[in-house]
Amino acid sequence: MNLYNVDVHLNTNITEDSPELGAADAIIIATGAVPITPKIKGIENAVDVVSAHIHPEKLKGDKIVYCGGGLSACDSALEAAMNGKKVAIIEMLDEVAINEHFINKASLIPMLQKHNVEILTGHKVLEIMENGVKAEKKDGTQVFIEADTVVSAFGMTPNDELAKAIDAKYHLKTRVIGDCNKVGKVGGAIREGFYAAISLD
Ligand SMILES: Cc1cc2nc3c(=O)[nH]c(=O)nc-3n(C[C@H](O)[C@H](O)[C@H](O)COP(=O)(O)OP(=O)(O)OC[C@H]3O[C@@H](n4cnc5c(N)ncnc54)[C@H](O)[C@@H]3O)c2cc1C
Repeated sequence: MNLYNVDVHLNTNITEDSPELGAADAIIIATGAVPITPKIKGIENAVDVVSAHIHPEKLKGDKIVYCGGGLSACDSALEAAMNGKKVAIIEMLDEVAINEHFINKASLIPMLQKHNVEILTGHKVLEIMENGVKAEKKDGTQVFIEADTVVSAFGMTPNDELAKAIDAKYHLKTRVIGDCNKVGKVGGAIREGFYAAISLD
C-alpha cells in the first residue's frame, strides 16, 4: 500500500453522507458480507461463525457444536478441533460443504475425520439452548446434541445496506464489488477489485 501511495484510514466508518464520497471521482464499495441469522429459537445463545473465526476465545468449554455445514463452518470447525476442542457439525443436507469443488473436499473431509470432527448430516436444527442443540432427523425423531458453545453458521448475506444508500446518491460513479455484491470467495473478490480498478479512467 505504501509503495503505491494508497491512503488507508483505519477505524473509520463510512456513511452515505461522508464528505469524502462527494469529493471522489469514483467510489468502489467492498463492505463484505454478514452472517445470516435465521429465526431459530434460541439463536441468541450462539456465537456467529465470523466472530468464532476472529475471536477463538469465544469458543468456551470443550465441546463446540456448529449449526450449518457450509465451507466456513467446516473451516472454523477444523481449526477448533486442531486446537483441541471436541467438535460436531450439524447439517440438514446429506453432505457438508455441498457446493464446494471436489478437489477442496478431497482434502477437507479427511482432515475433519482425522481431527475427530463429528459430522451429523440429515439433521435440522430446531432450537439452540445454552447447553446444546435440539435437532430433528429425517425420520422425524428429535435428538439433543450437547455443547459448551454453539456456533451459528447458516451462511452469509451481502452487507449491502450502505452500498444501496451510496449508490442511490452517487449512482454514476459507484461500483459494488466482492461479497457486498455477491457472497463468494477471496479469489472472486480480488478479481472484481482488479477489474474495477483497471476500468477507472
Ligand atoms: C469464516 C469464514 C471463512 C472463510 N474462508 C475462506 C477461505 O478459506 N477461502 C476463501 O477464498 N474465502 C473464504 N471466505 C470468504 C472470504 O472471506 C470472502 O469472500 C472475502 O473476504 C470477501 O472480500 P471482500 O473484500 O468483499 O469483503 P471483506 O473481506 O468482508 O471486507 C469487508 C470490509 O469492509 C469493512 N466495512 C464494512 N462496513 C464498513 C463501513 N460502513 N465503513 C468502513 N468499512 C466498512 C469491514 O470491516 C471489512 O473489513 C470465508 C468467509 C468466512 C466468513
